[in-house]
Amino acid sequence: MPNNQRNIVKVVVPRRVWETYDYSVPKRLSRPPIGARVSVPLGHGRAVGVVVAHVDQSDFELKDIERLIDDQPLLSEEVVELGKWLSDYYHHPLGSVFETILPTAAIRGHPASIEPEKQWSLAENSNLSAIKANAIRQQQTWQVLLEHKVVRESDLKSFGITRPVLEALERKGMVKKSDVATSQIITPSPISPTAEQKRAIDSIKVNLGRFQTFLLDGITGSGKTEVYLQVIDEVIRQGKQALVLVPEIALTPQMTNRFHERFSRMAVMHSMISNAKRFATWCQAASGDMPIIVGTRSAIFTPFKNLGIIVVDEEHDASYKQSESLRYSARDIAVMRASKLGIPCVLGSATPSMESVMNARSKRYRYLQLSQRPGTAQLPSFHVQDMRHTQVEGGICKPLLRTIGEHLSRDGQVLILINRRGHSTYYVCKECGWTANCEDCDVRLTWHEVPVRLLQCHSCGRRYQPISRCPDCGKTSIATLGVGTQQVEETLAETFPDVRRYRIDRDSVRTNRQLTAMFTRLQHAKDGLLIGTQMLAKGHHFPNVTMVAVIAADNGFLSTDFRGPERTAQLIVQVAGRAGRAEKRGEVWIQSYDPDNPDLKSLVRDGYEGFTETELRLRREANFPPFGQMAVIRAEGPDERVAEEFCAEVLNVLRQCDVKVLGPAAAPITRVARQYRFQGVVIAPQRRQLHDALKTVERMRPTSRKTRWSIDVDPSEMA
Ligand code: ADP
Ligand code: ZN
Ligand code: ZN
Repeated sequence: MPNNQRNIVKVVVPRRVWETYDYSVPKRLSRPPIGARVSVPLGHGRAVGVVVAHVDQSDFELKDIERLIDDQPLLSEEVVELGKWLSDYYHHPLGSVFETILPTAAIRGHPASIEPEKQWSLAENSNLSAIKANAIRQQQTWQVLLEHKVVRESDLKSFGITRPVLEALERKGMVKKSDVATSQIITPSPISPTAEQKRAIDSIKVNLGRFQTFLLDGITGSGKTEVYLQVIDEVIRQGKQALVLVPEIALTPQMTNRFHERFSRMAVMHSMISNAKRFATWCQAASGDMPIIVGTRSAIFTPFKNLGIIVVDEEHDASYKQSESLRYSARDIAVMRASKLGIPCVLGSATPSMESVMNARSKRYRYLQLSQRPGTAQLPSFHVQDMRHTQVEGGICKPLLRTIGEHLSRDGQVLILINRRGHSTYYVCKECGWTANCEDCDVRLTWHEVPVRLLQCHSCGRRYQPISRCPDCGKTSIATLGVGTQQVEETLAETFPDVRRYRIDRDSVRTNRQLTAMFTRLQHAKDGLLIGTQMLAKGHHFPNVTMVAVIAADNGFLSTDFRGPERTAQLIVQVAGRAGRAEKRGEVWIQSYDPDNPDLKSLVRDGYEGFTETELRLRREANFPPFGQMAVIRAEGPDERVAEEFCAEVLNVLRQCDVKVLGPAAAPITRVARQYRFQGVVIAPQRRQLHDALKTVERMRPTSRKTRWSIDVDPSEMA
């Protein structure tokens, strides 16, 4: 029976469902606006959902909404539309998209305070004598307002006054209620911009109020952050809001302090913040009460009342891409939101992604460059050490050890980058060739010396006790091979026993707080060796580092992942950017067994720009992004054959479409935590063809419930 009622709403519930549900609004309730949350009956229980449309008709037998949670929209229409777009673009269930967008507290139905906060003050001509002599509490309240002029709602308790009493006085016209004026104190910049900075600031400023993406390309320390700050200053003066995205690990107090020094009112948002706080900040942004939000990936979903600009710092960073559930890129969403809102989007980086470089070349993005560092620091010189005929000890060759020694003796700090944690990457039997592998994954175990001697799987985390006899041949000829951070530290400790060492990897630094503490220590350390993984590249400036050594660059340049070379070049350039002081040129050494690698050669000869040329040429030849449009299909499950067959089934449907399909193939690590993983690659010349093809498979379901699968549009890694 079609339902012809006026009051019907379409509701999306934050669960793994593709469809919205229709509900009728009972007479006792007013119709909830789009973007508001409602409580609805669902199956045998109830759910919190978001109203995404109003309709007059439905083909279904309808149930009533139970309750309105918000009487005003929690999500702006813009964010509701964004949700629909994300479901289309990433071929991901609409309900699950909203599950990603909404803060946990919102999904649990916690009340939102979207309205700007209110404050109370005395009305004009308000007179104490007009209050009855026995209305003691009204008199006290009146006195408090007289004394303090304005009192915020949130402060009522601390002044010992209550809302009902205030409302009674309001009815008599004795007090009045108004919106809290959000006061933003802007401290003017103490810095006068360089000519390049000024050009960048001016061209962004003249575009406030319309859509334009800028690629701000500037080496570390060239003053990009200063550009963001000065542009945001103008945005705030125009009464608008700003959103600044930063990579996961970069959200250190050092970074936020720079914003705090300039703007009295801003909020940070990242994964370590409590659910309640996160939701409160969200609501403040939605009500227009919070002018600036600095946050990591998921902050991109924050609704704003009047957003004026989006900045994405270190736009190339891999942490902007979510690698599970909704596999979104916060950077790409930033550009998309800016275009819908008609505001500028600034992408900053010392090492822009290939995508952004192409967009700048094709003039879709406006290119702004900061080529100099304020002050006179010079860029470092590069040296590639051919390892093929060189004597190596504990991962480091003799000439490199010698050069490190020279820098140390001249009071320089040396930074050593080795992208593997642990001590050794192989645990083997020298007699029969047995290697220790994880029982649950197809992964070699890594040998750790500190803090305890054990073997660890870096895929699933499982730990194993060391053994003294080979389980295959029974001989006691177990040895370790392959270098990790711990071994490099050991080698350096033997060669330079008196020099202070700092090791920075996931084993020595486990939390963001520890990382911050470590970076603060390094900032003040004048000498010593900094040994670490890519975590080091995210640190701020290390003013005393005069030399950078990259121990094993080949892993990345020869990676099976097409983005391996890009990530490695970015990492090298980012760490190299920390070498050299104002008065002295820094030195970068790269150990390589493949010194003729075209990517490495162009990087060393012509810097990141040279690398970009070579890499884009290779990508064009292979028709990889940013030329071809790509998606990866992944399927995994406990049964190898079932997972592979389902992957093949999806790929076969895709083969009927106008796209190129590769696979199925075993994933680079085939088995992780007892799950077998297969994947296929889909490439199309244009977005349209890719999306039309993916549309035909997006709702396919494996017959076995244990098989899981996903579509990854614009993959950031192939693993
Ligand atoms: P980036 O974000 O590109 O790494 P920053 O904006 O952090 O660069 O600038 C690096 C350092 O240089 C900071 O200490 C900053 O205060 C300073 N700085 C930036 N611009 C100028 C300038 N025009 N004159 C002097 N110092 C500057
Ligand atoms: Zn053996
Ligand atoms: Zn494992």
